[in-house]
Amino acid sequence: MKLKVLGCFGGNIPGHGMTSLLINDTVALDAGWVSGALSLREQEKVKDIFISHSHLDHTCTLPFLIDNNFSAPGFSLRIYAIPEVVASMKNHLFNKITWPDFTSLPNDLTPVLKLVEVRPEEPVLVNGLTIRPVLVSHIVPTTGFIVEDKKTCLAFSSDTGPTHRFWEIVNGLKNLKAIITETSFPDEFQDLADVSGHLTPSTLDVELEKLEKDVPVYLYGGKPKHLKAIKKQVAALKRKKLTFLEQGKTYRF
Ligand SMILES: [Zn+2]
Repeated sequence: MKLKVLGCFGGNIPGHGMTSLLINDTVALDAGWVSGALSLREQEKVKDIFISHSHLDHTCTLPFLIDNNFSAPGFSLRIYAIPEVVASMKNHLFNKITWPDFTSLPNDLTPVLKLVEVRPEEPVLVNGLTIRPVLVSHIVPTTGFIVEDKKTCLAFSSDTGPTHRFWEIVNGLKNLKAIITETSFPDEFQDLADVSGHLTPSTLDVELEKLEKDVPVYLYGGKPKHLKAIKKQVAALKRKKLTFLEQGKTYRF
């Protein structure tokens, strides 16, 4: 399985603060930084996008991705999310005010965009991948995603504070090769992390006690101004196999 990090965090790099992961060049998890990270030709290959939650840093390039490719022959995009997130995109993004409603363009019969509701823990088959949303604990309805092919499994928590079901499911995955989770704030911002549904190095450490698998854990989501402090505090945890995702890097699992 090929994973390209389109957006995860960073300072002086385009797309900082935005989240998006591209699997096998065609399926994206979140769309905080898709159109900005890919050439037009690469964008055309992205046909399926799973959205974890409604926050802009996970959705904001969707309008441009569609707009850039609208007239490409045969282009269509399917966006998958739980019903609450689909409703949010309908009401606040593709609402004919913020952006056109591409679910009825160029016409109702052959729209360029399909919003597909998925249910927590029900698998969706896309391009040889099985993708399962799993509810996590953020300040808006949010799911992580378990992505599997025949040999490999990856688990992406998306934005979350301390949570339970995600780790329970992860512990039962036979072919798990890696986990991607977040650490958004340093420990001195614990109160802010708590009210905004995010992790700090301290709460990440508690979360990782729930993990029974010996697999690499990659972190994303550090706010650019706090990244240095977060990295120092994560290093102090002295956990082997705990590293940071690298923006722009391609991983093979
Ligand atoms: Zn969020």
